[in-house]
Amino acid sequence: MAQMLYEGKAKKVYATENPDEYLVFYKDDATAFNGVKRGTILNKGVLNNKISAFFFDLLGKNGIPHHFVRLVSDREMLVKKLTILQIEVVVRNIAAGSLAKRIGWEEGRKLPQPVVELYYKNDDLGDPLINEYHARAMGLADDNQLKAIQELGLKINAILGAYLKEKKLELIDFKLEFGLHNGQLLLGDEISPDTCRFWDSETGQKLDKDRFRRDLGDVEDAYKEVLYRLTGEKL
Ligand code: UDP
Repeated sequence: MAQMLYEGKAKKVYATENPDEYLVFYKDDATAFNGVKRGTILNKGVLNNKISAFFFDLLGKNGIPHHFVRLVSDREMLVKKLTILQIEVVVRNIAAGSLAKRIGWEEGRKLPQPVVELYYKNDDLGDPLINEYHARAMGLADDNQLKAIQELGLKINAILGAYLKEKKLELIDFKLEFGLHNGQLLLGDEISPDTCRFWDSETGQKLDKDRFRRDLGDVEDAYKEVLYRLTGEKL
């Protein structure tokens, strides 16, 4: 069995024979509110593996450099080895979640322009909101990297938003992580209903992890619906 290098809340990362590549295993475990709420979403690992692979492919075809290499099994993908920047980039189109709370806008109110936010990736501190000055002072990234991750965030937002609209899904907001591979900045982690908010364009129904966070029910079905709309695959 390959050596496990890291176990996170939703994924495990293994070494492979190739020193340039890792194997990512997607689990069914779900957490929210910085690990305070825990549970399982049946088949989430399979669904998020497939959904992430689809999004990485789509972004790659549109010129976004990413870590995804190929799917290995229902729950596993091969990725390029990254040194992850300790910054989470969140891009928002519609007020929801922590932004709605912070600025006092009702959830669902459209932002006149996309908003990019940076968070310090640190579980002990609960991933606090930071700005570019914090990131530079803390040595989390240099000027070029900060400019690049925010520009890539906006570009990814445009690509995903346009594609999802055709599938009758609104892209409300999402979180990205970036890392370095042999000096090259690549999009990493996952892109899935765990890390994005998707609302049905017509009904406004939530098709993402908010169903778990807020105990709305039908969590697995929501993830299945996202995979189905993106790829036509029924799990
Ligand atoms: N998000 C994420 N991981 C985190 C925090 C947020 O993937 O640790 C995603 C979340 O799913 C949503 C977006 O980033 O699509 C914005 O989340 P928000 O700041 O509103 O936080 P939350 O409502 O999760 O507290």
